[in-house]
Parts: sequence; C-alpha cells; structure tokens
Amino acid sequence: MKESYDLVIIGGGPGGYEAAIRAGQLGMSVACIEKRINKGEPALGGTCLNVGCIPSKALLDSSHRYEATKHDLADHGITTGEVAIDISKMLSRKDAIVKQLTGGVAALLKGNGADWLQGTGKLLDGKGADKQVEFTPLDGSAPTTITAKNVILASGSVPIDIPVAPIDNEYIVDSTGALDFTEVPARLGVIGGGVIGLELGSVWRRLGSEVVVFEAMPEFLAAADKAVSKEAAKLLKAQGMDIRIDTKVTQAQVENGKVLVSFDAKGQAGQETFDKLIVCVGRRAYKENLLGENSGVELTERGLVAVNDFCQTNLDGVYAIGDLVRGPMLAHKAMEEGMMAVERIHGEKVQVNYDTIISVIYTHPEIAWVGLTEEQAKEKGHEVKTGQFSLAANGRALAAGEGQGFIKVVADAKTDRLLGMHVVSAGAGDIVHQGMIAMEFVSSIEDLQLMTFAHPTISEAVHEAVLSADGRAIHA
Ligand code: FAD
Repeated sequence: MKESYDLVIIGGGPGGYEAAIRAGQLGMSVACIEKRINKGEPALGGTCLNVGCIPSKALLDSSHRYEATKHDLADHGITTGEVAIDISKMLSRKDAIVKQLTGGVAALLKGNGADWLQGTGKLLDGKGADKQVEFTPLDGSAPTTITAKNVILASGSVPIDIPVAPIDNEYIVDSTGALDFTEVPARLGVIGGGVIGLELGSVWRRLGSEVVVFEAMPEFLAAADKAVSKEAAKLLKAQGMDIRIDTKVTQAQVENGKVLVSFDAKGQAGQETFDKLIVCVGRRAYKENLLGENSGVELTERGLVAVNDFCQTNLDGVYAIGDLVRGPMLAHKAMEEGMMAVERIHGEKVQVNYDTIISVIYTHPEIAWVGLTEEQAKEKGHEVKTGQFSLAANGRALAAGEGQGFIKVVADAKTDRLLGMHVVSAGAGDIVHQGMIAMEFVSSIEDLQLMTFAHPTISEAVHEAVLSADGRAIHA
C-alpha cells in the first residue's frame, strides 16, 4: 500500500475492478478498496461474481440440465436411469466457479500493478486536488488516510428489505440466501416478479419446487415490449410458474417451520403457506460508511450519488459508477462506466451509449432486448414499423427442441433505422447483441436484410424478422 495514488477506487465489483485493471493498463498508480468476505475469504468481484450474475447462472445451468435430462431426452430416443440431483454438489460447483473467477480477478489486478486494499474505504474529503480517503483494513489494524488525485466511488447496491417480510436467513431470504438452499423447498414463494425473482424462481422450480411469484404491479415485466412480456408470461406459466400480478404481500411470518404469507390479490385477501420465501423486490444503492461528513459529494433525491453522463460527480476528479448511480443496475453497465471514468481521467473523450444497454433475463427460453420497445418508440413520436419472426418456423431451433419464442425488431418507418430488438429464445442474451451492434452502427432494416445469415442458425430468425418488417419474411 502506498500513501498516495493517482486513483483510488472504493468497491471492487465489476465496475470497480474493471476500472482498476484499466487504470493499471494506462500506467496509473491505483488502489481498489474492497471489504467483501465471501465464504470466509476476502473476495473481489462484488455482488456480480460473489452473489449475483455468476452464481445464479451456475445454478440456472445445473437446474436446466437436470430438467432437460429428466424431461427432454426421451424425445431424442435417449433413455436414462432415475435422474436425481445432489444439491450439495450443485452448490459446491457454483462456489468453485465463483472462487475461480474472484481469484482470477485478484490475479488480474496484481498483474496490472493495481493494489487491492482489503477493507473499507471512506471518502473523507473529495474537494481539493489531493482527495483524502480513509482505509480501515479487514485485519482489524488501525485506519489510515491515503491521498488520491482521483477517486471512483463504486460501492454498488444491496437488496431492499421490506418490513412486511423480514429476512431471517432461514425461511425468509433475499437473493443471496436463495443461492444456498440446502434442499429443494416443496413450496417456494417469491416476492417480486422482476429479473432476479424470475431467475431464482426458475432454478428451484426446475428442481421440483412449486413456485408462486407475487408481483405487486398490475403489469408483468413492465419494462419489456408488450409482445415480449405476454410471451414470457405464457411460457413461464406453461412451465408451471404461478405468476400472480397485482398481488401485494401484506405480511409474511414464520410459524412452525413454514412461512405464512398474507396477500391482497386485486382487492381480495388471501393466505398461503410456503417452505421458503425469497424477497426480491429490488436493490438500493449502498453508501454505508462510504462518504465522510465533509466529503462534499452531492446525492440525488433518491439517495444515489449524483453524476452526469460521464459519471462525474459535482467534485473535480471524483467519479461514481455502477449500481451507486442512475440507470439500470447491471454489471455490464457498471463495467463500461468504470472504463469510461478511468479513460476520462486519462484525458480521453470516451462515453457510454446508454441507448444500447442490453437487458437479459436468463430464464429458459431467455428474454433479452436492446433499444426501444414498440410502445416507447411510438411515445417518442416515431412512425413505427415492426417485424417479428417465430422460432417455431426456424429449422435450427426446431432441430434443437427450442422452437419457443420469437425475434421482434422495431424500426422507424420513415428512416428505416433500427430502434430496438426484442428476443425470446434459447440464447437470446447472445442473439440480441446483433441488434446492439446494428444500432451502434446506425443500421437500417435494409442493411440487415441485405446480409447473409448462416443456415441453419437461430440468428436466421433475426434476418426473417427484419425481412418481415417490410412484409418479406420467407418462412412466415
Ligand atoms: P457491486 O457488484 O455491488 O460491488 C460493489 C462492491 O463494493 C461490493 O463488493 C462491496 O462489498 C464493496 N463496497 C461497498 N462499500 C464499500 C466500502 N465503503 N469500502 C470497500 N468496499 C465497499 N447483472 C447483470 O448485468 N447480469 C446478470 O445476470 C445479473 N444477475 C444478477 C443476479 C443476482 C441474484 C443479483 C443480486 C444481481 C445480478 N445482477 C446482474 C446485478 C449485478 O450484480 C450488479 O448490477 C453489479 O454487480 C453492480 O456492480 P457494481 O460494481 O456497481 O457494484
């Protein structure tokens, strides 16, 4: 540890650790302060690597394989013996993946000359040229003050608690607890029908839980294109997920080893019992012990750190990124903001294109989109044309037993410019990148129509969707 750095980053999640690596690449002296302990060991990687994106995807993959082996192989003429799941092995696999990745990040920081300071960072004063950051080590030794020419605040977010369903980490858990159930709950309640609730609900449903999702909003997946939310609701319900919109949980209490959930469903009171309840009602920016009284950093009314489009706070040389600031709480958004902040400190004029941040829900099939929904495009005054193609008419999807979902494109009818792509399909999270790249290059629908897509691939449905925007789809 040095007494003074070009850059100190507080928080070693995807935003903070990528910023640290980039700063090292650019030759800055850089420290990343991270206080997290995961399974007894200090760990970089933040929410995403430790208790978010990665462990949830490990469990989604295990549970998908289990379900597919149990139910889908017979169609292929493959017979198996009894299919069983060893939950502790599944959890160990997940933990090993997390450990491999967090260890890899530590090695990358080291390899790029960035110091990882294990402990808590607090910005005492960010106003002058030499910012003062207090560092309190995890090992219990006395706090020290380090100076930095620049600071990036990247302390991320934590799950929101709701008083009606207090977390006890045994029966009522948040998203972190739901990654570590040691057995499959017979009945699982999920409060919140957003991305995290649907993903975690899917994991345990595939493994045998009867899952009920309580969503207070009258609309399912309100941020998605209407055609997508309708299709997603249909497919998830067909899989056995009981999604109840317009249903507000009013009380959850543990009685005799079960969770009694009281709710109001469109004005009708009800009660049901569950073995476990996951509370996934959203996340809030995490600022505990981050800012000293004289830090000088301004916050928004909602308690986020206030930043401009370049993640600059009100103080010169103090940046804030990721879940701590406005915009979607997504790892890739945090990462790009981290790199932008560092490159701006280095004098470059980079920016993040917030119009092309991709959203993915890793259910099966996956749900993904980029850009404007049809409804948003209309609201913004575009004369809209759309194209849509069903995976049921895509040869590769059918060959793979993945003929569910569709690809939809939204475009401006006058300019032909692609405004959005919406995908419900196996691998949608990858396929939607075609829309993102096309939008970044300001592609027209015609540009995409004139390209040759390999046969047979699910990507051909992108081609068919853009053809269908002008009534030219071949297989529809
Ligand atoms: P974080 O990852 O939250 O990291 C911040 C770090 O800062 C933490 O490790 C914290 O310990 C540390 N910290 C905080 N305060 C201090 C301090 N004062 N001193 C030192 N250290 C401090 N996003 C996706 O894009 N794709 C997904 O598939 C996805 N899946 C998710 C699944 C789940 C179950 C959850 C919970 C989240 C998921 N997310 C996903 C969201 C994603 O994890 C976050 O958007 C992302 O981690 C935000 O990155 P960040 O760097 O801003 O903050």
